[in-house]
Order: sequence, then structure tokens, then C-alpha cells
Amino acid sequence: MRAVIVGGGIIGTMHAVLAVEAGYEVVHIERDARPLSASIRNFGLVWVSGRAAGPELEIALRARQLWEEIGSRAEIGFRPQGSLTIAQTEAEFEVMRAAAVMPDAHDRGFRILDRAQVQAHEPVLQGKFVGALECTKDAAVEPSLLLGGLRNYLASHEKYTWMPNFEVVDFYHDETGNHVTDINGHKVSGELMAICPGSAHQGFLSEFLDGAPLRRVHLQMGATVPFGATLGHSIADADSMRYYPAFKDLALDTLAPQEPIAAQYKMQLLLVPRLDHTFTIGDTHEYEEPFSHEILEAPYDHLRNVISAIFGAPAPTIARRWSGNYSQLIGADGVYYRRELAPGAVVVTGGGGRGNTISPAIAEETINSWPK
Ligand SMILES: Cc1cc2nc3c(=O)[nH]c(=O)nc-3n(C[C@H](O)[C@H](O)[C@H](O)COP(=O)(O)OP(=O)(O)OC[C@H]3O[C@@H](n4cnc5c(N)ncnc54)[C@H](O)[C@@H]3O)c2cc1C
Repeated sequence: MRAVIVGGGIIGTMHAVLAVEAGYEVVHIERDARPLSASIRNFGLVWVSGRAAGPELEIALRARQLWEEIGSRAEIGFRPQGSLTIAQTEAEFEVMRAAAVMPDAHDRGFRILDRAQVQAHEPVLQGKFVGALECTKDAAVEPSLLLGGLRNYLASHEKYTWMPNFEVVDFYHDETGNHVTDINGHKVSGELMAICPGSAHQGFLSEFLDGAPLRRVHLQMGATVPFGATLGHSIADADSMRYYPAFKDLALDTLAPQEPIAAQYKMQLLLVPRLDHTFTIGDTHEYEEPFSHEILEAPYDHLRNVISAIFGAPAPTIARRWSGNYSQLIGADGVYYRRELAPGAVVVTGGGGRGNTISPAIAEETINSWPK
């Protein structure tokens, strides 16, 4: 049976991986010569720690397991490096202690580390902090390797065809199956179809997505020059607890207000050590469209100040800056957006800031719903 996957981002590519492995013939379509959207602009975090209790945590844990398995078959730089959310004040540490005894804390691999224990893991952290919340379930993949690595793996399967430079402008269903066409009328057909457009909600999808509970979110990111020492964990500051739903019922109101610049741009520090010894750092969040077309410098100054305070040393220079958009499900039940367009055809997007994390489990849900 033939499955057409539209979208070369991580959600489309995970559909291709799991569909090929399940024995389907797969044609994988992408509008660009190589994907350029959210999936190559992110941190590469497989971030279990911040997920809301219940279905969101469950899908993240299933995805974490799938990442480990897929990471052993494909060159994607998967590493189960865990994370440290750093408490710079006693009030922050107190909230983390409460997080570490939540009913699902064990599932998340949460553990409280005092300052000496943090430094035993990460001697390079010499700044002002009192301790950290460790999450042993968090992991990371390398965004620069991820999609190419998965496509290299897919290329070893006879039943996989990669079709870049094909921008879908129309979708229709008839008695022979599901069809997409490009502007020149070229048609690709299959009994099964998963359209994974990321934040491209408009165009041929407008008729299906207008009024859907989806929004786009715009973020600023950066990467430093190589750092002289290695880190074995991803690092977050305590501001991250304000944004991740795992912590929403804890005493966040006991925390000092965010720095004005961090509050203005809805910021947290996330820092992910890369295989090339650089750090990916971010991020800001903008929710109102039209988004700013400019990359603003002030948020980077804030990130460098936080890094410097935690490391107790000047933050490494930022070598690259970029921005990106993701699609997020809002105001509706569910962890991501799925809609049937016709028998055998779905659109899947809206994974939000956890779209990379949960992508293999999203794809698994689609493939499990297909006829064998
Ligand atoms: C800056 C940033 C940091 C993030 N950090 C993380 C993180 O660390 N961890 C995490 O879990 N999540 C993170 N996210 C979220 C995550 O990156 C996204 O949820 C995820 O990448 C979305 O994947 P996707 O495949 O749905 O979309 P995309 O990556 O946007 O891919 C969609 C693809 O579909 C193609 N396409 C669209 N329309 C058409 C068409 N008409 N015809 C053909 N092709 C088409 C596009 O060209 C694109 O390649 C972050 C997002 C951003 C922006």
C-alpha cells in the first residue's frame, strides 16, 4: 500500500520512517530543496521534564523511547544527556524541591542536586546558584544532522522515494485514493496520505485550517562559538518553569518577578551543548502576528548575562542568530492537531514547542490507524 507524506520537517520525516518500517511504500514530498523550517531551527531537545501531567507526559515518554530506538538505527546525534534546571535563588530551589516530589516525578527522572552535586557533574558551572533539578529523561538530537540522517536511513529502504522541490497546491480525494498536485499539475497519489505542513497553515490548506485551534509562534535563537569545556547536560534557567506546564500548579508566585527584558520577550534560557562544542541558546516567544521581521539584540544580551551568572565566567560569543516559527494547538483538548481530510488522508501539525520531542509518537499514532 502506498503512503504519501507531505512535509520534510520532523513530523513528516518521522511518519516516513515509521511507515517504511511498517512495510508501506512511501513517497515523501517537500516544497524546498531541503527542509528549512522549524525542525532545523530548534534546539533539538527531546524535553520530557516540562510536559504537562497526563496525556502530554505519556506521549512524550513514548516518544522518548522511540527516539532512543530510532537513534540507534540512524545517524541523528541522539544522546540521552539529561538536563539541569538551575536554581539561582532559594525560592527557585524550593519550587524545584516540590517538583521533585510530584506524583509523576519518577517517570520524568527528576532528582534534586545541591550545588556540590551539580558541580560534581558539571565542574564548569562556577557561578551563583544553589542547586538544580535534574531530569534524566531529557535528551537531545543534533538539528543539523537530524533530517538528513533520517533520510539517509530511509534511502536504504527500497520502498522510499524522496521528492523535494514539490510544492503542493491542491489536495483531492476520489474513488482511486488521495491526490496532491503542484502548480504545474504534476500529481502524486496514494491510498494513504499524511500532510505535515508545520506552520504553513495557509495556501491549499486554508479551506481545512481556517478557524482551526492553531496559532503560529515566533522565536529568536542563537549559537555560540565553540566552548573550551564540555557539558554533559542541557541547561535551563528557572524562568523555564514559568512556561512549561509541568510546573503550573507549583508555587510560582513565590518567585521574584522576571527581569523586565525576559518578561517582555517571554524568555527562558535553554542551552544545549552540541557535538561541535558550540551551544545552541534561546529563546524568546512572540504570539501576535504579524511577527517582527527584525532580530532584536536585547534578548541575546539577557541570555549572555544569565549564562555568565551560572557559569561564573564570560559567556561565549554568539556566532549565529536566527528565528523560527512553530505551529501550536491552542484552546482545545489534545497535545497536537490532527484532522481527517478524506478517508485515508490526515493533516497533522500543531506540536508546538514540543513538536520535536513528540514527533515519533505522533507518527506512530497515524501509522497505527492505517490499514495493514
Ligand atoms: C526556534 C525553535 C525552537 C524549538 N525548539 C524545540 C525543541 O528543542 N524541542 C522540541 O520538541 N520542539 C522544539 N520546537 C518545536 C519544533 O521544532 C516543531 O514543533 C517541529 O519542528 C515541527 O515539525 P513539523 O514537521 O510539523 O514542521 P516543520 O519543521 O515546519 O516542517 C514542515 C515542512 O513542510 C513543508 N511544507 C509546508 N507546506 C508545504 C507544501 N504546500 N508542499 C510541500 N511541502 C510543504 C515545509 O517546507 C517544511 O519543510 C522549536 C521550534 C522553534 C521554531
